[in-house]
Amino acid sequence: MIKYKSPAEIEKLRAAALVVSRTLGMIAKEIKPGVKPVDLDRKAEEYILSQGAKPGFKGLYGCPSTLLISKNETVVHGLPTDIPLVEGDIVSVDCGSILDGYYGDHAYTFEVGAVDPAVKKLLEVTKESLYLGIAAFKAGNRLGDIGHAIQHHAEKHGYGVVRELVGHGIGTKLHEDPQVPNFGKQGKGKLLKNGMTLAIEPMITMGTFRVKQLSDGWTINTVDGKMAAHFEHDVAMVDGKPEILSTFDYVYEALGINPEDDKISI
Ligand code: MG
Ligand code: MG
Repeated sequence: MIKYKSPAEIEKLRAAALVVSRTLGMIAKEIKPGVKPVDLDRKAEEYILSQGAKPGFKGLYGCPSTLLISKNETVVHGLPTDIPLVEGDIVSVDCGSILDGYYGDHAYTFEVGAVDPAVKKLLEVTKESLYLGIAAFKAGNRLGDIGHAIQHHAEKHGYGVVRELVGHGIGTKLHEDPQVPNFGKQGKGKLLKNGMTLAIEPMITMGTFRVKQLSDGWTINTVDGKMAAHFEHDVAMVDGKPEILSTFDYVYEALGINPEDDKISI
């Protein structure tokens, strides 16, 4: 059952999302060759607690960490290890928070040092597909329009769209209805309405879209070992239009990217 949120509830979701946004900004400054993912995880937890919030993932479904850190061929749900990052890695950092009973949940894929141009392109197209999916989250559209927008853009560039993992509603639970696939048909699925709050999160691969779970019960890797990227925002529909509750601006500030240069025209 979809829970439609009041404006006051949307503000609570925004506050939780912004805790994650600031956490990702803090992490962005730390990402470089030699850094251990477990240290990033510890810093993120300390920061979230300092904001009067709690980690959103840790303890949920038995998740042992504050961040899910997914490197290279790991699509999502990578557990933080003590293996240092190396130049040329890409690393998706997915972070959750819970503040005043409401969840924030978003993710950014970072470059570690200099990255292959073909991999940079994967990141660019995945982020574009996120914003195109968000643009389709408007009154009159249906869930399939979001998935279609993401899938069309990713596949146009020859990339794979992961099927087994999807976006989701977000609220007082991390995962609420509806599921938000990153693939779909225009005009199909549930009608999108004001008060819906979604975590939209394309997971895009350089090869096959097929994935496998490792024996740790968490890590999701591409079957062919090719790189994957993941970007996620929390979005509410307000006045028939998508309003992004999370922001990458703290990440951009940390990385010295002008947010205006990174705006994707939707
Ligand atoms: Mg997430
Ligand atoms: Mg999510």
